[in-house]
Amino acid sequence: MTLAHLLEGLRCSCCGALDVLWLDLARGLIECRECGQSAFTFPEIGEGE
Ligand SMILES: [Zn+2]
Repeated sequence: MTLAHLLEGLRCSCCGALDVLWLDLARGLIECRECGQSAFTFPEIGEGE
């Protein structure tokens, strides 16, 4: 069981590669498998209050 989810159709804003962004649910961040760039997800995502 993995908590990482591939974000299909999204392009890395750093290296421009497609389909390489993984959503790490455990840490709440997005990481690029190609260049290693990572960014915290926006608080709004997944909350929908
Ligand atoms: Zn990248």
